[in-house]
Amino acid sequence: MKTYKNFIGGKWVSSPSKKTFHSLDPAIEKSIGKFQDSSELDIELAVKEAEKAFLSWSETPAPKRAEILFKIRDLLKENKESLARLEVKEMGKVYKEALGDVQEAIDIFEYMAGEGRRLFGFTTPSELKNKFCATIRRSLGIVSLITPWNFPIAIPSWKLAPALICGNTIIFKPSSDTPLCAIELIKILNQAGIPKGVVNLVTGFGSSIGTSLINHQKIRAISFTGSVETGKFITKNAGLKKISLELGGKNAIIVMEDANLELALEGVLWGAFGTTGQRCTATSRVIIHAKVATKFENMLVNATKKLKLGSGLLKTTDIGPLINKKAVEKSDYYTNLGLKEGAKLLTGGKPLSSKGFFYQPTIFTNVKPEMRIAQEEIFGPVLSIIKIKNIDEAIEICNNIKQGLSSSIYTENMRYAFKAINKIEAGITYINSSTIGAEIHLPFGGVKETGSGREAGIEGINEFSETKTIYIDYSGKLQKAQGG
Ligand code: NAD
Repeated sequence: MKTYKNFIGGKWVSSPSKKTFHSLDPAIEKSIGKFQDSSELDIELAVKEAEKAFLSWSETPAPKRAEILFKIRDLLKENKESLARLEVKEMGKVYKEALGDVQEAIDIFEYMAGEGRRLFGFTTPSELKNKFCATIRRSLGIVSLITPWNFPIAIPSWKLAPALICGNTIIFKPSSDTPLCAIELIKILNQAGIPKGVVNLVTGFGSSIGTSLINHQKIRAISFTGSVETGKFITKNAGLKKISLELGGKNAIIVMEDANLELALEGVLWGAFGTTGQRCTATSRVIIHAKVATKFENMLVNATKKLKLGSGLLKTTDIGPLINKKAVEKSDYYTNLGLKEGAKLLTGGKPLSSKGFFYQPTIFTNVKPEMRIAQEEIFGPVLSIIKIKNIDEAIEICNNIKQGLSSSIYTENMRYAFKAINKIEAGITYINSSTIGAEIHLPFGGVKETGSGREAGIEGINEFSETKTIYIDYSGKLQKAQGG
């Protein structure tokens, strides 16, 4: 069994902790390698290396930094299939989706490399004569990137690419469920010529290295994607650092009485059961007009029963395994809770008895909006159907949750669509499309307990740079603003 190392200061090194952990293939419950179970000492070492590398990297002209990012894009393209296969092995999603995950990484490196020749500030007139006003962007310093396992190549890339183009140096801690994907990604960055110390990878658990990644004095910013619970811990413990938090969701698709039901069916199936329901933007509630509810439920149950569970490497598989045993137990816990709460189980509701962390796609109907299955993120293939009588009730129920990430409405009625756009409390609203399917050149993020900040697109640059305001007075005398 191979033991993989941390990447610190341009070298692959073992942790002084001398401890390791395994990463499992969730389809067969077998280890794919051993990884460093790092300690605070590793973070200390990584911070030292990141500090040493910062001046030279931040002073490297952004178009030159961009050349390396373009190389990373090219290497990701060359290695797309092998990275996707690894992702299936370590995370479990089906191969086609894994290819999409790597494609997102390719896209974000290309987009952010392009930013190397922009990184715009702005100029604006002064209120005084002979005075010039402008803004420039500056690097932040050392940044912590902490990521989950569900998009093990794409999410780290969403952070690495903007952090690098903005001239920061990086401590990257991937999820302990997908360390090998992170290692292969960092190998590509290294091969593309990222100077030593600019990107440092430390594997391990939040419980042992999380706190030092969050409250280390020399770390200037934290970019975190993960659960609401960890997000709250970070907010409490980070002090006055710049923080961006991309947290959980409880996303709904609204299906109105005039919707194209065939189209809505495809959107619900993809949103609820794609990536086995393990997307932050997964559809976990369908809020449907009572007039079309029974017809739609029949269509949905028939289609769901045809979905095939299995290894993500098989062409016949529609739904891969969940990430680990705990995730299976969580889906099962919520299924039992749904039954106790009085919801009606239409299909699914059980783990598979075979090897691997599989759970049947599960649908509940007659769900009341306040039930816990309709309020809490399950992060598995468990869907709740809630019936409504009009658009206002639909939007009220859609909003009556703690999170606000993604949302969707299926309707042919422009008034319904615009009401949804204006009234739904979420970072993203889709019209006649599922709750999933972000494109990297648009901002991504949520409101309420889903967190703060926006990744990707131009707003991703804001997360990893700070603005300096410049005043140049060439009047040759003291001029006072506001006439003072
Ligand atoms: P998680 O919060 O358990 O872990 C995320 C990362 O945080 C991991 O690297 C983990 O090791 C680390 N961590 C855990 N405890 C920590 C601590 N105390 N201090 C510092 N780091 C710590 O989440 P997860 O199970 O890996 O991912 C699933 C969650 O992520 C879901 O809630 C999902 O909605 C969310 N998610 C959100 C987005 C988004 O963009 N909004 C995208 C993907 C996933």
